[in-house]
Amino acid sequence: MDCPDLHICALLDQWIDAAGTVTLTAHTFPDGDALGSTVALCRYLRERRGKDAVVILPNPYSEDIAFIAADTPVLCYSKSPEQAEAHIARTDLVICLDCNAFNRTEGLQDILSASSARKVLIDHHLGPDRDAFGLVFSTPDISSTCEHLFWILLQMKDIAGDAGKLPEVARTALLAGMTTDTNNFANSVFPSTFEMASALLAAGTDRESVLSHLYNSYRENRIRLIGYLLGEKLRITDSGAAIMILTADEYRRFRLREGESEGIVNMPLAIRRVRISIFLKEYAEDGNFHISVRSKRGISAADYAREFFHGGGHELASGGRLYYPRDIAVPEEAEAYVLSSLEKFLA
Ligand code: 5GP
Ligand code: MN
Repeated sequence: MDCPDLHICALLDQWIDAAGTVTLTAHTFPDGDALGSTVALCRYLRERRGKDAVVILPNPYSEDIAFIAADTPVLCYSKSPEQAEAHIARTDLVICLDCNAFNRTEGLQDILSASSARKVLIDHHLGPDRDAFGLVFSTPDISSTCEHLFWILLQMKDIAGDAGKLPEVARTALLAGMTTDTNNFANSVFPSTFEMASALLAAGTDRESVLSHLYNSYRENRIRLIGYLLGEKLRITDSGAAIMILTADEYRRFRLREGESEGIVNMPLAIRRVRISIFLKEYAEDGNFHISVRSKRGISAADYAREFFHGGGHELASGGRLYYPRDIAVPEEAEAYVLSSLEKFLA
């Protein structure tokens, strides 16, 4: 890839030198890329730079990706707010990863915005909130935040281009986060993505172990759910839109845990006539649906999520929310809302 801006990399190096305590954060409902990038940077800062670095996430990550964190200090604000606030109060440097603005950090938003620490953004989403950060590394033309971070870390003085100098947990986390964000090299893959993977493998990173954790370690519940959703719930419109809705009731019935329905939205895209796939998951507790949107080239999942679901993300992979009773009166109206929004969007 084009090297990340060397001037900003040098500034980041200086800001790290000047900091004693660092907070790494990422978007709400952290996925593999969010967890991988924060963990990787945390390990680098602790092991190579001797910093008091802690990952502070808005809420817990799913068990499926817990191996990425290994024994890294990770706090979840929703579970231990006092500890998280105490660390942020002592923080000299906040680095926000895989998240384009503090408003995607849920409960942490106000605390982070109000912090007088220096702030850095490292991300690959569209529309970074440049005003909120002193240093911004942002490009959508990259596979993942983990890849973006990898190229930035190689520019640090002590690493000097040698991936083998990155701590092992950091290398594994970078490979895992890139793998989840690209669906194991299926989407958003650039020449630089293979170069990154190649450098990590050459440094001894265990890819087989990463793949086994990511793709061969699910609970049976998830696979049964996939069978049910594809068999009973998938609806495909004449316009080539696939819709699946997972209700709160079904979530309970399949005894699902957070993250266990992740990625199912991609599956209908395997059907030739499907151009866009929409997956709704109902959260009964707070009266809303989380929406995942995936599209094939030529249709913008990001525009659709932005126009109809208060969301955004990447061109072909986006997300948002549908609230009741704000957007729809009752949860049963969700499907009708999606159908009418699709009619407008695909027209
Ligand atoms: P997922 O469908 O995996 O939850 O999210 C897909 C992509 O859309 C991710 O890159 C995520 O960051 C983005 N995304 C998901 N939900 C939202 C949201 O509510 N707002 C915005 N702006 N982006 C979202
Ligand atoms: Mn990402």
